[in-house]
Amino acid sequence: MDQPPVIVRVERASRVYQRDSIPVPALQDASLDIRRGDFVALVGPSGSGKTTLLNLVGGLDRPTSGHIWIDGQDITALRPGALAELRLRKIGFVFQEYNLVPVLSALENVEYVMLLQGVAEGRRRTRAMGLLGELGLAGLEHRWPNELSGGQQQRVAVARAIAAEPVIVLPDEPTANLDSKAGATLMDLMRRLNEERGTTFVFSTHDPMVVERARRVVRLRDGRIEADERSAP
Ligand code: ADP
Ligand code: MG
Repeated sequence: MDQPPVIVRVERASRVYQRDSIPVPALQDASLDIRRGDFVALVGPSGSGKTTLLNLVGGLDRPTSGHIWIDGQDITALRPGALAELRLRKIGFVFQEYNLVPVLSALENVEYVMLLQGVAEGRRRTRAMGLLGELGLAGLEHRWPNELSGGQQQRVAVARAIAAEPVIVLPDEPTANLDSKAGATLMDLMRRLNEERGTTFVFSTHDPMVVERARRVVRLRDGRIEADERSAP
């Protein structure tokens, strides 16, 4: 059976930070292929390199050595402008702290990335309304972020991340600030988007409830990938 295409390739990537002139090896010689439609949990204790790896995959940071390929393109040596453009077109980010724009409504937050991409207003609006509905937020479109619960804000953030139809969505500890019920709801919605739309997700977590919902688990320890397992379909 044909496997889905590889959309992200991490090839022997290392990232060494400098702290007070002392090198900190945050990620060491990591290799990983992400295929279209994957739903992957990056799991490991705090400090194991999860955020470092997500930042490399998302083009927010560059490896000290090794390569990152997105959609067949080696992004390792891209100039900053080209990298920013690639992030805008191809990557959806979701952060632990939601990071919605506080002066924009839920709807405007979801429309924002499409606005930057030059999507026409009517299409932007229709698409944002549809996505918010899919994420269980119908009727809340015109609320400000501070009028929404944490779980609702994070669902707006997921709608925003997928609005521009990225190649991959990278939630970094998306449930860390949510209670277990809101966290489970968020994960179930992400999984549904994965199954129904084929959206590719790579998320980090140390929450067993989140790991349980993954279809593939990549374990990190001290900056190294120590296991990469798919669960039965
Ligand atoms: P995780 O997300 O799994 O908690 P991180 O990727 O954030 O782990 O961090 C991996 C290691 O790199 C840790 O030892 C952390 O302290 C270190 N680190 C992360 N970011 C920086 C930075 N900007 N400067 C120096 N060290 C960093
Ligand atoms: Mg982290």
